[in-house]
Amino acid sequence: MVLIVDDNPNNIFSLKKLLESNDFEVDTALSGEEALGKALKNDYSLVILDVQMPDMDGFEVAENLSGYSKTKDVPIIFLSAVSIEKKFITQGYRSGGKDYVTKPVDPDILLLKAKTFYNLQENNLAMKKTQHNLELENRGRKEAQATMKSQIDHFHVMLQALPQIAFTLNENGEVDFVNCKWYQYSENEKDFPETHPDDHNIREQFEECRKRGKALELEIRIKNIKNQAYRYHLLRMSPVFEGENIKNWVGTFTDIDDQKRIEKEKDEFLSIASHELKTPLTSIKAYTQLLSRKLKQNDENSELMYVQKTLDQIDKLNSLITDLLDVSKIENGKLKINKKPENLNQVLENALETILHTSGSDVKIERHGVKPDFMIPLDKIRIEQVLINFLTNAIKYSPENHQIIVTTFTDEKEVRISVTDFGIGIPDFKQEYVFQKFYRVEESSLQFQGLGIGLYICSEIINQHHGTIGVSSELGEGSTFYFTLPLN
Ligand code: ADP
Repeated sequence: MVLIVDDNPNNIFSLKKLLESNDFEVDTALSGEEALGKALKNDYSLVILDVQMPDMDGFEVAENLSGYSKTKDVPIIFLSAVSIEKKFITQGYRSGGKDYVTKPVDPDILLLKAKTFYNLQENNLAMKKTQHNLELENRGRKEAQATMKSQIDHFHVMLQALPQIAFTLNENGEVDFVNCKWYQYSENEKDFPETHPDDHNIREQFEECRKRGKALELEIRIKNIKNQAYRYHLLRMSPVFEGENIKNWVGTFTDIDDQKRIEKEKDEFLSIASHELKTPLTSIKAYTQLLSRKLKQNDENSELMYVQKTLDQIDKLNSLITDLLDVSKIENGKLKINKKPENLNQVLENALETILHTSGSDVKIERHGVKPDFMIPLDKIRIEQVLINFLTNAIKYSPENHQIIVTTFTDEKEVRISVTDFGIGIPDFKQEYVFQKFYRVEESSLQFQGLGIGLYICSEIINQHHGTIGVSSELGEGSTFYFTLPLN
């Protein structure tokens, strides 16, 4: 908007007309005081100011306008009837004017000047606005950066306080932060700790996981720089996502060397103990069998029943010790599988016969599906062991209902055998653990005896046959344990 200041209403009228007919928005003031009041209230892009006015003349008004931050940059064109003496012109420019036009006004010249100054001021204002917005944006960015930096610093302080070795990597997989514990195992920030020659290479394993965008978890021995000793660590490296993309990675090495040593000692103890127990037990069994045979010669011998019970208990003890021995064989990689072509149905029939022979008459076993009456390569004794384990568990964990269904199913790739019971079942979230060593479902562990190793051995046997093993179960409804064997 343009402000015209003149004490003569006629002048104002003609100037206003001229500017409005050229699309300017116009405001007017009849005195210097009125002009100052309006200029402080409104935004003007140009002031056309008459020099000769009573009370406050144009120069005074211009000086006042240049004293306020709001108005100091608004261009002023002076209008004067006074002849253009140099001193007036100088005074005009000194007091903040941008140009000087004498009366009588040449409308074309005034219009040209008004347009030029008006546009200049509009551009000036637009530039100031842009600059102000840029400053705001810049300030916002700086604040965000400062917040992010303080968050990262806080995160790093936390990582420093961890008892583990902790580190982070950027999206390119380069280490960009390590805590102080890192330097017990690595000379510098860039290199991963040195691993045992028999263990995996960390960088290679990590690159594999990075390609797939998956976390890495690895038990690995790394070398301590001071004493050059290798210690077992659990290495975990997890991706941190920002939307779909990996922003960076967080990693830790947790020292598990003591746990590993204790676990090894326990395995060694189990192995020795089960070996040592097996020898006297074999002798006890042999002598008891002799005694039983002797007593059988005399039909009236009531002690025979006790001897038979003793033999049953010896068999139970024997199978517990055999299981423990199997566990230590698995640990040492010595559980050997001797595969030969066998009739699978025959193996299944043998297992069923053993179970029906040893369990009470209330156990009912139904068979469903087509019988696998064909030869496939397997270790007969070990597969029978798996079946007996499934069946024994089905009876043991179904105290109220001794009905069992054995289902067989074959397609072109594999054969599948499942054992279904209608017993206590297993809670959903515990099913995946039942094949782990020494795992027993808490709810049933007090009520039913066991060591929690039968299914662990079964899964090792099936793995060595390149098959799969699994369970589906409903708490309080029953369970179905199954395994598959490949046909080729
Ligand atoms: P054990 O029976 O000696 O404890 P297993 O390794 O055979 O050891 O089984 C592991 C655990 O799985 C058992 O302790 C039990 O909690 C659960 N389990 C196995 N079979 C069944 C089943 N048929 N029904 C319910 N729970 C079962």
